[in-house]
Amino acid sequence: MKQGNLIIQNVTGLHARPARLFVDAAKKFTASVQIKHAGRIANGKSMISMLTLGVECGAEITMLVDGSDEVSAYAALEKLIQEGFGETLVNKNIAVQNGAITAVTSAAPAVLAPPTVMPLSTPVFHLVEGVIAAPGIAIGGVFKLQETTVVLAAFSGDVDAEQHALRNAILQAGDQLTQLRNQLIISGVSNDAAIFDAHQEIITDPDLISEVMTQIATQQSAATAWKWVTDKHAAAVRQLSDPLLAARAADIQDAGKRVLMLLSGQSKNIDLPDMPVILLAKELSPSDMAVIDRNKVIGICIAEGGPTAHASILARSLGIPAIVSADAKLHTLPNGTRIILNATAPGLSGTVDLCPTPAALAEAEAAQQAWQARRQRATQAAHMSATTLDGHRVEVVANIGSVADAKAAFVAGAEGVGLLRTEFLFMDSTVAPSEQTQFEAYRDILQAMADTPVIIRTLDIGGDKPVTYLDMPVEKNPFLGERGIRLCLNRPDILRTQLRAILRAAEFGCAQIMIPMIADFAEWRAVRAMLTELQTELNAPAVALGIMIEVPSAAVMADIFAPEVAFFSIGTNDLTQYVLAMDRQHPSLASKADGLHPAVLRLIAQTVEAAHKAGKWVGVCGELGSDLQALPILVGLGVDELSVNSAAIGLVKANVRELHLSDAKALAHRALACATAADVRKLTI
Ligand code: PEP
Ligand code: MG
Repeated sequence: MKQGNLIIQNVTGLHARPARLFVDAAKKFTASVQIKHAGRIANGKSMISMLTLGVECGAEITMLVDGSDEVSAYAALEKLIQEGFGETLVNKNIAVQNGAITAVTSAAPAVLAPPTVMPLSTPVFHLVEGVIAAPGIAIGGVFKLQETTVVLAAFSGDVDAEQHALRNAILQAGDQLTQLRNQLIISGVSNDAAIFDAHQEIITDPDLISEVMTQIATQQSAATAWKWVTDKHAAAVRQLSDPLLAARAADIQDAGKRVLMLLSGQSKNIDLPDMPVILLAKELSPSDMAVIDRNKVIGICIAEGGPTAHASILARSLGIPAIVSADAKLHTLPNGTRIILNATAPGLSGTVDLCPTPAALAEAEAAQQAWQARRQRATQAAHMSATTLDGHRVEVVANIGSVADAKAAFVAGAEGVGLLRTEFLFMDSTVAPSEQTQFEAYRDILQAMADTPVIIRTLDIGGDKPVTYLDMPVEKNPFLGERGIRLCLNRPDILRTQLRAILRAAEFGCAQIMIPMIADFAEWRAVRAMLTELQTELNAPAVALGIMIEVPSAAVMADIFAPEVAFFSIGTNDLTQYVLAMDRQHPSLASKADGLHPAVLRLIAQTVEAAHKAGKWVGVCGELGSDLQALPILVGLGVDELSVNSAAIGLVKANVRELHLSDAKALAHRALACATAADVRKLTI
């Protein structure tokens, strides 16, 4: 047996993601793995068991590995722990956000406010506010979502039959989770699909299952035994002092309930009245959101959560108007109370009118009809080009992060891919993807996009996106550290492998390459030299090489870069963060870190001017590109391409088609002269 003491150094401790990585790594070996901590012992191949230990940052654990491959197993697991599971090792606040499964990858959410739908002008009373999670207007009776009580089936008298039923229910629940996961990926939110992987890990946990089987053997029904064991583990996890670890209790309960419902022959569908309703809930689990009957739920108000929570992301992809962080007053309303949910106002705040007057209702109905008709028209015309009324063409392409995203983008009317985030191949994996794995993924994406241009961004790891298998240095300010191209140039093998894979895949479509986080001209030279060398080595055709403008120095030096690069693509998420010195993930700065700040707009203007002088094009691939209030300003500033999430493509194109370039230019000119982002948001064309 191999045994040793180790310190958990990642600041979030053994929460869901590191525990899953540990368990996945441990399962690759035949040796048994046990972790001892504070007088308790956990099975290193069981995620629930590991979570229940409640190991926090700085805690000492003893690892005991026993079996024929114990030496290699111990070494691999020790490395994972010592590398902090790829998380930041020092700055607690930043790492808590970075390490969470729900890690935010963009700045403010896209606010798809249609400029043609006016904010309601009738004075309204009884208004409560919330944060817009998904745009639209809903008018209807409220329905408060109650916790469904599961009726536990009684013991059938046959232990074998009960155990068989449990195995079946787990298999069926696994299928459901795979479907939910794929649904998220198709909706373009592949990063968040990991939540269902964690649920899968929970319901197939070997310790949990064996405990339930033992309970069943004592003449209990599968449902009773499963509920008792999952409740016990959830309660143990809930009591942990670290709030991040304690929050995982909800995952155990959500995943556990799925199996329980199947065992009890109940569906996890939410029973809604036979009429359209606005759903009120304290919180909605991702599984609740995924089974909502789209025909009955016309709006959602959630008391907890933010616009980047899973439920919000799903509401956006399902097209259900939603408000989160809504005032608690809402939840005192009796079922059936008619309200107006207005999530179309420019900016981030939405309102709910709890007691609308007839005039307010009439006005809201008209606004709603206009909004719905507009959305429908936009979707129907999503495959038409985006050309302004005075004949100026703007390319509208997609931001994607997987092969499934590419397929969805093509169907949604994308004219290409403006940003392929290649991190999906590198994150949540314990080994670096090989050249062949990368080649196959890029080839599949290029083929899915059928010869339209696909801009493949080289690895942008670091900052908010750590990986486990790289020796990432301990950094006090990861967003200002070894991130993106800096990291790749310090580890040229990673970049070389990726560039080789892209060059090999290039013959299957129209590939272009983009470098993230360029801050200095020397970085550009180094990447270009490597690419040229590899092109010769592989005898590959030339592939266009462009850079992201997301570090202010690159924007300021755009005139120096412009003659050399193939294109610029402006990453407004990071550009805003670095220009305003506001963390893009900071919850209380979310409404202030606005890409429409005149300082950001001036840098965009400067970049476009330099690019056009050198005959190059400029795209915007940050979230600002799908903010319909920003759209005329970006077009007016001369941005040639907007790269947005698939769900926004139709509306973005429709908005471009309603513009006159001359008006947009005048608006952009006025925006550049504004003093604040709020002033810019007050401008109208
Ligand atoms: C950006 O910074 O705007 C961008 C598109 O890149 P990411 O969000 O992946 O950092
Ligand atoms: Mg960026």
